[in-house]
Amino acid sequence: MAEAGVAPEEIDIVVASHLHFDHAGGFTYRDASGRIRPTFPKAQYICRRGDYEDATHTHERNRASYLADNYVPLAEAGILQMVDDDATIMPGVKVRRTGGHCLHHQAVMMESKGRTAAFVADLIPTTAHVRAAWIMGFDLYPVDTLTAKKQFVTEAIEKQTLVFFEHDPAVAAGYIQEQNGKIVVQPAS
Ligand SMILES: [Zn+2]
Repeated sequence: MAEAGVAPEEIDIVVASHLHFDHAGGFTYRDASGRIRPTFPKAQYICRRGDYEDATHTHERNRASYLADNYVPLAEAGILQMVDDDATIMPGVKVRRTGGHCLHHQAVMMESKGRTAAFVADLIPTTAHVRAAWIMGFDLYPVDTLTAKKQFVTEAIEKQTLVFFEHDPAVAAGYIQEQNGKIVVQPAS
């Protein structure tokens, strides 16, 4: 963000796909006195209410994925807004539940000037995961991932959506295409 010339104070909305530590870990930081503070001091943070419930009532299978310091202090400070359903966050930005990876995992869908982009988080974490059957072992509901992914991929091909691959080591974003019956990713330049 610093490289792009964006300061933390300029961020007004932070949307969580879900609250796993590798996604929400940057939401807060510990200051010199050890106090937990929001990384983006002027932002409203947004998450799915169901995911917050899961994140604060963990079980043996998902406990290692959630760290309360990433989101409980935000809720206590009154700057964590929870959405119950698919919703429009601001003009052109919507959240849409995918489930699969965790029950309330959501994608962030963006629209601007007739073009679409999608931050699908752990629905398709890397370009290797565009293929229907390639699903992470982390997923709590892999068959739901399968259903949501197939639906999303069909739509992404049709709308030529710019898709972000947040866990891919080489391709930050690209376009999903079908070539000779195979689903492939054309990296965005
Ligand atoms: Zn996750």
